[in-house]
Amino acid sequence: MSVVTRFAPSPTGFLHIGGARTALFNFLFARHHGGKYLLRVEDTDKARSTPEAVAAIHEGLEWLGLAGDDDPLYQSSRAERHGEVARILLEKGHAYRCYLTPDELTTLREEARATGGQIISPWRDADPASAPDAPFTIRLRMPLEGSTTINDAVQGAVTVSHDALDDLVMLRADGTPTYMLAVVVDDHDMGVTHVIRGDDHLNNAFRQQKIIEAMEWPVPVYAHIPLIHGSDGAKLSKRHGALSATAYRDMGFLPEAVCNYLLRLGWSHGDDEIISRDQAIEWFGLDAIGKSPARFDMEKLTATNSHYIRSLPVDTLTRLMLDGDDTSAAIMTRLEQLAPAFAERAQRLTDLKESAAFAIHDHAPPISEEAAALLTDTARENLAAMAQDLPDDFDSPDGFKQWLGQWLEGKGLKMRDIGPPLRAALTGMKQTPDIVLISYCLGVEQIRLRIAAICK
Ligand code: GLU
Repeated sequence: MSVVTRFAPSPTGFLHIGGARTALFNFLFARHHGGKYLLRVEDTDKARSTPEAVAAIHEGLEWLGLAGDDDPLYQSSRAERHGEVARILLEKGHAYRCYLTPDELTTLREEARATGGQIISPWRDADPASAPDAPFTIRLRMPLEGSTTINDAVQGAVTVSHDALDDLVMLRADGTPTYMLAVVVDDHDMGVTHVIRGDDHLNNAFRQQKIIEAMEWPVPVYAHIPLIHGSDGAKLSKRHGALSATAYRDMGFLPEAVCNYLLRLGWSHGDDEIISRDQAIEWFGLDAIGKSPARFDMEKLTATNSHYIRSLPVDTLTRLMLDGDDTSAAIMTRLEQLAPAFAERAQRLTDLKESAAFAIHDHAPPISEEAAALLTDTARENLAAMAQDLPDDFDSPDGFKQWLGQWLEGKGLKMRDIGPPLRAALTGMKQTPDIVLISYCLGVEQIRLRIAAICK
C-alpha cells in the first residue's frame, strides 16, 4: 500500500502554529514511507472562508517548506460529488430524507437533553410515501445499538457507544454538503490512507467512519494528535504565542528552526533536540507521538532558532545582515569576517541585523545612550591618542591585539581603560562581540574616522 496523507485546513484564519505542526507530521509521515502528502483547502463554509485566509495558508506552508505534492484540492469545487455520495447512500438504504423543520428539531433536541436520550428523527422509519413536498436534509442511518472502536495510532483503542451518535446530516436542505460528508468523500477520492490531525476531531472520526462503512470504502488509519497547550497548560491561544506561521518569520525565526521545534513538540526521538529535515524523514513514525498535550515554549523555540542561525553558511548570514543598499567589496569582506561572531550571539535574525548595523556602512554609527556614557573626557583623550599612533594597517586580529597591548603598556593604561570606549566609538553600542576582532575588521581608516567623530 502506498501511503497518502493530507493536510486539510479550513481557511477561516491564518495558518497557526498547531496547523503547521499537523502539516509537518503529515508531510514527514508521507516522505518516510515514500508516499504522497496532499493539501486540501476546506472552504465549504463560504461565510467563514476568505481568499485572504487561503492566501495566508499557502504563504505559511510555502515558507515552512510544506506545500502539498500536487495542486491543492478546493473542497468547494466538489459539492456535486458530495451530493452524489449522499444520494448513493439514500438508494442503498443507509440514509433517509428527513423533513424535520428547524423548530421541530429544536423541540426534539430539548427533549433529548432532558431525558439524556438521543435525537431520533421520526423520518428515520417513516413510510417514504408519506413524505411532504418540502425541503429535506439527508441523514445517515446510524446503528442504534452496540459500539464502534477506533484503533487510533496515537490514542490507542477508543470506543464510543452508538447511542451517543445521532443520525448525522450529510446534505443540508439547500443541497449543500456538510463538513462530515465532504471530509470522508474527499479523503476517499484522494486515496488518503492515513488521517493525521488534531484530537479535536476524534469525535468526528466515529461519525465519519460510519459513512465510510456504509459506502464500503477502506477505513483509513487514524492518528489524532494532542493539541498544543500554552506554557501554563491551558489550550494554546494568542497570548501564548499562537501566532501565524508567518508572524514567526517576521519576528526573525528561520523556517528550519520552527519546523524542528514543532517536530519536537509532540514527537520525540530519544533526547535528540536538533533534527534536520532529512533526519526527521528517516526517523518519523506515529508511534513516537506523545499522548499528552505538549506545551509551547517560546524560550525553547528561540534556543532552537539560535542554533540554526549559528549553523547558517557565512554568505547566507552576510546576506541577512545587509539592508538592501549597494555594498562595497570591502564591506562585504568585513561582514563575512564578522558574521560568525554576530551569529554566535543572535537569537533571531533581527538580532543579526541589529548587531551588524554599525558594520554595513563606512560612516560613524549613532551612539546609544549607554555607549555615550562610556565616552568620558579621559576616554576620548585616550582614544584620540591611540588613533594618532595607529600604524597604517594590521595583518590579523592578533596583530592588532599585540600592537594595542604594547601601546597600552607604553601609556601605563589597561585594556579596560580603552576597550569599552573603543567599542562605544566604533559600534555605538555597549555590548558587541570581541572588540579586537571588530577593530581589525573595520580597519585603521574606519577606526580613525569613528574616533574622530566622537572627538569633535
Ligand atoms: N478542516 C478541518 C480543520 O481545519 C480539518 C479536517 C480534518 O483534518 O479532517 O480543523
